[in-house]
Amino acid sequence: MEITSIKTAATVGHGMHLWVRVSTDAGIVGTGECVHGGKQAIAIIQYLEEKLVGRDPFAVDAIFEDMRRSHVFDGGDAGALITALTGIEIALWDLKGKALDVPVYELLGGKFRDKIRVYADCEVSPGMNFDQIKAVVDEVLERGFTALKIDVDIGAYGHRESEVAHFEKDRFNFTANQWEHDRMVSLVDMVTRAAGRDIDVAADVHTRLDVPSSIRLAKALEQYHLMWLEEPVPAENVDAMRTVTQSTSVPICSGENLYLRHGFRDLIEKQAVNIIMPDIPKCGGLSECRKIANMAEVYYIPFAPHNVSSPVGTLASAHVCATVPNFLILEYHWLHRDYWSTIIQEKTDIIKDGFIHFDGRPGIGVELDEEVGRQYQYPGTTWFE
Ligand code: MG
Repeated sequence: MEITSIKTAATVGHGMHLWVRVSTDAGIVGTGECVHGGKQAIAIIQYLEEKLVGRDPFAVDAIFEDMRRSHVFDGGDAGALITALTGIEIALWDLKGKALDVPVYELLGGKFRDKIRVYADCEVSPGMNFDQIKAVVDEVLERGFTALKIDVDIGAYGHRESEVAHFEKDRFNFTANQWEHDRMVSLVDMVTRAAGRDIDVAADVHTRLDVPSSIRLAKALEQYHLMWLEEPVPAENVDAMRTVTQSTSVPICSGENLYLRHGFRDLIEKQAVNIIMPDIPKCGGLSECRKIANMAEVYYIPFAPHNVSSPVGTLASAHVCATVPNFLILEYHWLHRDYWSTIIQEKTDIIKDGFIHFDGRPGIGVELDEEVGRQYQYPGTTWFE
């Protein structure tokens, strides 16, 4: 079997959802998805198509590593080139699964578990009172989720209440003032009270704080038994992250903007975090993220992937989660977005009562509905042409 073409389409979802379709001379087609690569990733895939036509689509890891190494001067360590390759990689796994009539998890070593626990990213905002927060949390719990995540940093919301505006943290300076610190603690207090003791709560700081502000926040949050505190300090300084991690009993999680095993090596080897969160349809794909999880496993570090993908990228991520022992939980970021169930031909919510179940279909296991997808086509992009 030979690759005959690699084409893309893009939809407006959580940012851009970039769809990648690999076709073969045997008539078997695989569809993958990548995120956060932007229009640069589309241009890179168009360029890579020329290099990959005629290649054996089953040599997934070799294709990935060959393209990465031969373009190392063009961004073969991180960024859009890796994300473009990730979209191709996921499409190749879908294709190989279909060709061999097995689900992708069977090609990755088989399952440790039959269902994948998912947490809901949950939109509470700093201006809400307890009753308003309880209403948001209740909606998540009524849908069957047993874990949720909130953003505690003001910057994430562009929140501008005039009466508190002069207390807000400067968006570039990393030091939290007293008002900001108290507000973050109060938000976690309200959300954990609303959720109740059985529900796991994670809190994301989006890299807004310096080391002392982060340690002070983490210590104040220890009483709430968070599932994790996410990226309190900027993620690029692994030693600063480790200082925070070593100062608190709150589990610290990071990694949504790292790429490849190489990007995670320092974080894992220095045990700078308690939990890692690679974005699978962005940072290297299924094979690479399984290897990242395996690296983390030897330090007993859990694997909790970041995820803003459509059901295709989410289910692709779930195949990896099934095949590693240290899987903790997978993100779901679509509580209030419209095409979650309609963009796939199956017209179903792949998450039932807070879990993804596999149904044994070959490949990734869900198919893009192109008619619906075209209604959300990303401006200025082509559609599998
Ligand atoms: Mg985050």
